[in-house]
Amino acid sequence: MELELRLDEVRARVSAAAEEAGRNVDAIQLVAVSKTFDADAIRPAIAHGQRVFGENRVQESQSKWPQLKAETPDVELHLIGPLQSNKAADAVALFDVIQTIDREKIARAVAAEMDRQDKRLRLYVQINTGLEPQKAGIAPDDAVSFVEFCRSELGLSVEGLMCIPPADENPGPHFALLAKLAREAKAAELSMGMSGDYETAIAFGATKVRVGSAIFGHR
Ligand SMILES: *Cc1c(COP(=O)(O)O)cnc(C)c1O
Repeated sequence: MELELRLDEVRARVSAAAEEAGRNVDAIQLVAVSKTFDADAIRPAIAHGQRVFGENRVQESQSKWPQLKAETPDVELHLIGPLQSNKAADAVALFDVIQTIDREKIARAVAAEMDRQDKRLRLYVQINTGLEPQKAGIAPDDAVSFVEFCRSELGLSVEGLMCIPPADENPGPHFALLAKLAREAKAAELSMGMSGDYETAIAFGATKVRVGSAIFGHR
């Protein structure tokens, strides 16, 4: 199937899921996850009207997005993979949104870089809803205090929370937990849902769904 058709199908399913949930589709943004795909594979999505993209590696993104952003300046780029502090400068320079603030050290590094580059990014705190040892993120019990710390101590604009539920579990309870924590932290945006479960995430209130393979094909 052509990328255009897959993108249309995902858009249609986002709309249907929003309607099913009694939600306004305009409150849900599709983040097209283009990791592992090169610029030539991404251009058709941009030509088909997609403007918000997600990438999980800073270095890989540097090889394609400066050119793509030069071609289409209103493209918005989200970092959805783990960030190391030695990459904070590059990430702040290239991305518009970082969805993976997951510890104090990286929050401090991003805050310092935004000051240095005089650039304000929108940020999300990643929550490890399944408390998986191998997965990044703040523990659910610490979520609200960490968001408050980022805002009041570091002056960061934390607009939402993000999670990646355990692969082998029903995602619903994880999405519900993220929504509850976001209400408590007064964070408006909920980044949750991937190719396999974005309709479920929309039912639980997702405002950003991160969809890769359903748009670009298998990696
Ligand atoms: C790769 C990735 C996605 C997209 O996954 P698909 O199953 O291909 O839709 C979403 N979120 C994160 C954090 C990812 O790394």
